[in-house]
Amino acid sequence: MPNNQNSKYHGLVFRVAVPSPLRRVFDYLPPVIDGDQHSSSLPSSDTEFSSSKVQPGVRVRVSFGNRKLIGIVVAIGADSSLDKKKLKPVIEILDQKPLFTPGVFKILLWAANYYQHSLGEVFATALPRKLRVGHTQKQGQQVWTVQGSPTEKEISSLSRAIKQKALFELIETKGKLSRAQCQDAGFSPVLLTRLTEKKLIRSQLIPAEAAKPFELLNDRDSELTLNDNQLAAVTSITEKLDTFSCFLLDGVTGSGKTEVYMQVMRKQLALGKQCLVLVPEIGLTPQTIARFEERFDCPVVSLHSGLNESERLNAWNCSRDGSAGIIIGTRSAVFTPMAAPGLIIIDEEHDSSFKQQDSFRYSARDIAVVRAREENICVVLGSATPSLESLHNANSNKFIHLKLPQRTGKVTTSNSMEVIDVANETLREGFSEQLLYKIQRHIENKNQVLVFINRRGFAPILNCQSCGWIAECENCIAQFTVHANPSSLRCHHCGAFKQLPRYCQNCKSKDLNTIGVGTQRVEAFLNKQFPDTTILRIDRDSTRRKSSLAKMLERINQGDPCILLGTQMLAKGHHFPNITLVAILDADAGLFSADFRGQEHMAQTIVQVAGRAGRAERAGEVLIQSRHSAHTTLQSLITGTYAEFAETQLKERQNAAMPPFHHLCLLRAESPNLEIPLHFLDKVATIVDKLCHQAKLPVERLGPIPAPMEKRAGRFRIHLILKSRSRGALQTLLTQLCEQLDNLKFPAKLRLSIDVDPQDMT
Ligand code: ADP
Ligand code: ZN
Ligand code: ZN
Repeated sequence: MPNNQNSKYHGLVFRVAVPSPLRRVFDYLPPVIDGDQHSSSLPSSDTEFSSSKVQPGVRVRVSFGNRKLIGIVVAIGADSSLDKKKLKPVIEILDQKPLFTPGVFKILLWAANYYQHSLGEVFATALPRKLRVGHTQKQGQQVWTVQGSPTEKEISSLSRAIKQKALFELIETKGKLSRAQCQDAGFSPVLLTRLTEKKLIRSQLIPAEAAKPFELLNDRDSELTLNDNQLAAVTSITEKLDTFSCFLLDGVTGSGKTEVYMQVMRKQLALGKQCLVLVPEIGLTPQTIARFEERFDCPVVSLHSGLNESERLNAWNCSRDGSAGIIIGTRSAVFTPMAAPGLIIIDEEHDSSFKQQDSFRYSARDIAVVRAREENICVVLGSATPSLESLHNANSNKFIHLKLPQRTGKVTTSNSMEVIDVANETLREGFSEQLLYKIQRHIENKNQVLVFINRRGFAPILNCQSCGWIAECENCIAQFTVHANPSSLRCHHCGAFKQLPRYCQNCKSKDLNTIGVGTQRVEAFLNKQFPDTTILRIDRDSTRRKSSLAKMLERINQGDPCILLGTQMLAKGHHFPNITLVAILDADAGLFSADFRGQEHMAQTIVQVAGRAGRAERAGEVLIQSRHSAHTTLQSLITGTYAEFAETQLKERQNAAMPPFHHLCLLRAESPNLEIPLHFLDKVATIVDKLCHQAKLPVERLGPIPAPMEKRAGRFRIHLILKSRSRGALQTLLTQLCEQLDNLKFPAKLRLSIDVDPQDMT
């Protein structure tokens, strides 16, 4: 905010956050008054819009440099440090009332501050695109009516435009017609424009009906009788429903977590309070939505990437005005305003998609907790494999730990898990003989099998047998992945795409060879090996078309024997009741990952994938191939539980002074020239040291060092890591550091990102 001491201008100013990377707000004067009392751009009858009544949270159109942007008024000030001549007036005020509820407005301010991100961009993340680009929030409904009384002659001018004539007649009969009604009647909305241009009809805004708060009608489906653990969980949450509390619902797959969510939700819905349910990006399937719709007779809206912008705005508005009871969405839905907030649920809270990995790098899970505190409601984080962060919060009594250790429903036995040691085996396209034999057996018994391999494409390496050359992406320090259909090389980091070379780019030898396996290669192999069995491959490439995933899932649900093979996509959300064997082709990448969370993620994946088996009548078998079968992490998963594994990991993290015991911030500088980010971060490091020394802040600095992935998409990447036991100290440092960074001259082509609580450190 501008410094008040040397203020030069005295008078009403709006402090406006604009969508630019700059971490500050800008002062603007109220809009130019046309006539005596009203702003030029607004209906003169509407005194609500007068500048003196503007509240923080409304949108304004402003000129910014030579652009016109939509910003949000953050505060109303009585003076500015700028000279009046330098202050520009707001062009237009777009809203009568703030767009966000006070609770959401506050957490947005909090988040911008905590993640050291431009407030304007934070607001932009939280708004549906239509509002972001300045569409007026519906103050009424737009309808078309006949203009005046057109003469016979005017109407006969339509005789050759049959559709326009028919639409005109429809409007005449109905009196008025909305755009939706026009479309429902089979007319293109363009015809409305044509008729308007001919001055035969005109559009009008009629007052919208006030939104009705939703109502929960009777049960459609009687609720299940809870088992003891579920009952204890529901009771525990219910007791605290009218204040802030945070629960970790730690329950194995199939233990009935969703049933717990739903029974708690019902209590809030019955009181007219809304429930916000966040799910991982990949988990928001039509089935998830249907499950809630089947159970609850109240409006359910969903917010996900498949919506068009009008649908998204509509869902957002239904949440904001209180007409929707349940709001289901992915990451950014955490910012959806609710008129009557009652509960927040985060399903699969460990999932990495809750953290945004670019631009505004926020964690929707962490923000949900802050929001629940702000709105004084409960938040329930559910998972079969809770993140170490959440387990640590439960251990230190910040979260209430609720456990569902047993499967419910028809099977209560858990799966058996076993490692196949492949250290001394020659594998056939990734498979040991023992594994192939097992697959055969399960198929013969008319069961379904799931093969998990976390690598899409055909093979991860193309190499030359003569000289050892390996195909690498020119833009990244990374190998190209070989893909089939069409044969090509693809970079999974920058998206680069090339035809498959016929000969070595180094020695021209034609002796090229692929090493390693990806899903496409395994698919081809399994088709040969099990010619009479359906093989279904599920990965990002095979499900590009929306309907293809649904078709495959339907095929699986029919229950006939088949082999399902795929990546991470399979580990999330879906239920495969007929699968009796889960095979994890290669567990080793996770065991030796450079990322300190590598083992945590591997364990979560194994447990989640394993949880897909034996969910119905039959318990399942889980086989894990590894060259390091004695590895303690693997062993602790096989012989123990995820909880035991997590406890060991937590001790290791504590000894290594890593999250969740210490807190991290990652500063990443990137540039096409290696020297630039190195020099720049050296300078930043000096500032950091000075600030830490001055304020005696217990913050450790690591780097600058090249990122594990040193070059990506044509840019060199250098890391500077800040670490502290005290979140407060780290925040103090970051605030001071960012102030200095904002005054620093950035070299051309340098990109700097600040990632607080980073997940992806590659
Ligand atoms: P989770 O979310 O923990 O994976 P779900 O809530 O999906 O588990 O429950 C798994 C299955 O068990 C579902 O088919 C659900 O309807 C059923 N189920 C849940 N709770 C009960 C219960 N108390 N009695 C009988 N069946 C239940
Ligand atoms: Zn070669
Ligand atoms: Zn690349």
